[in-house]
Amino acid sequence: MRSSVLFESAGERLLVDCGPDLRQQLLDAGSPMVDALLLTHDHADHSHGIDELRPIVQTRGEPLPFLARPDVIEQMKRRFAYAFVDLRYYAALYDPKAIENEFMVGDARVRVVDQPHGGITSLGLRFDKGGKSIAYAIDFNEITDTMATLYNGVDVWVADCLMLDPHPTHAHLDMVLDAAREFSVGQLLLTHMGNGMDYATLKARLPDWAAPAHDGLEVEF
Ligand SMILES: [Zn+2]
Ligand SMILES: [Zn+2]
Repeated sequence: MRSSVLFESAGERLLVDCGPDLRQQLLDAGSPMVDALLLTHDHADHSHGIDELRPIVQTRGEPLPFLARPDVIEQMKRRFAYAFVDLRYYAALYDPKAIENEFMVGDARVRVVDQPHGGITSLGLRFDKGGKSIAYAIDFNEITDTMATLYNGVDVWVADCLMLDPHPTHAHLDMVLDAAREFSVGQLLLTHMGNGMDYATLKARLPDWAAPAHDGLEVEF
């Protein structure tokens, strides 16, 4: 389970979440520069790589925009206060900004939606560019009407799929397969899979329009 993904459009890069293994992920990706960090929610598996962007911030020479819902910003400021303020010898790493429901990354249009995730919400995203679309729906356990509207008809839907059986805070296989059919997505990629999700078994079992995602996977339009 590697809970970080990098979106790039027209040379601009948005990193979504900073999981604990972010350092290795960035090295594997060739140490790309990042223009902003978006945090979907404050769970540890999405946020505790928060220190790993320090070299990028130092190279930029200014704090990295940190996009999230206001309650997530407040929670992260409480837990990682040093990362958001200038201290005597250390400049702030992040410049927090309450995320808009719609914004641009390069020439891609980005829209976000709040997804139920146990007692909290996580942000789901849809990117549109040149008539193509990809959506990233991490950490949800229920599909709201707003989510259904946003994800409807996307070319690629990357969806949370923790396990085979229902789970109180995450999506499971039948749930995302049913939703993908209902939304008429072009392709479904499963992510955030737990240890019980075997890659080869899933690949053999899934319809040809669905597949488990994997580390280092790149989707290009
Ligand atoms: Zn979570
Ligand atoms: Zn998670």
